[in-house]
Formats: sequence, structure tokens, C-alpha cells
Amino acid sequence: MGSSMVEFDNFTYHIHNHRTNLKEGKHTFYLLCSMRNRYKCKGRGKLEVDSEGDNRSFTPTQPHNHPPLLEELALHRFKLKLKKAVEDADTIVPLRTIFEEVSQGSSPVEFKEISPFMARVRKKKEYVRVVS
Ligand SMILES: [Zn+2]
Repeated sequence: MGSSMVEFDNFTYHIHNHRTNLKEGKHTFYLLCSMRNRYKCKGRGKLEVDSEGDNRSFTPTQPHNHPPLLEELALHRFKLKLKKAVEDADTIVPLRTIFEEVSQGSSPVEFKEISPFMARVRKKKEYVRVVS
């Protein structure tokens, strides 16, 4: 359940590599399909971002061997929302309360399955607060 995923055109990717071109002020991220292990998918893409981070352009470079996986997308989007909610909430707020607020009664995943992810997000937040 990695959290460093990005989404383009209804597919989810992991960042595989990153190159910075200082002369052109441009960052290039090389992306691999997040389903490459499960489906042996060779789907790849390239994301170019300027140094301000404003102009993003995504180019698919290798096709996927599967259609967009709507359940994976729903889970990815839900996790992004949960991550932000955990980061924004005070650490005394129970994780289950945050989960219930974000899911509003419909969630792609059970609390017990996602709570370790939420706990990691919270731990990171506490660590940052202690060291900074
Ligand atoms: Zn794929």
C-alpha cells in the first residue's frame, strides 16, 4: 500500500526515476504503472514539470495491458484525502473519527485495513514536529 502514487488519465503510477535539466529549468519524472507486478504491465509515462511546478505535461510512453482499474483509482483518491485529513487534524483526534469524517459512510476500504497507513502518516507528522 505505497502512498507515493500519482494518477494520470485514470491510471496510477509510481515514480521510478527523476531527472532535472537545470539549463531548461525542467524536471522530468519517469513513471511506471503501479500494477506492473500484479499484471506484469509494461505501462509507462513521462511527466515534465517546470521549475515553478506550474506547467505539468504527461505523455504516455508505453501502453498498459489492462483498462483503467476504477477500484484502484478510488482507493488512491481516498488515501490522498485521508492523508491530508490526518496531517491537518490534531494528533488527539482518533484515527477512526478522521476515517469516518472522510468516508461519509462510503469507503473503498475498511478502517482496519487502512488504519496502519493512517498511523504511519500520523507518526511522520509527529516526528516532523519533534525534530523541527
Ligand atoms: Zn498498467
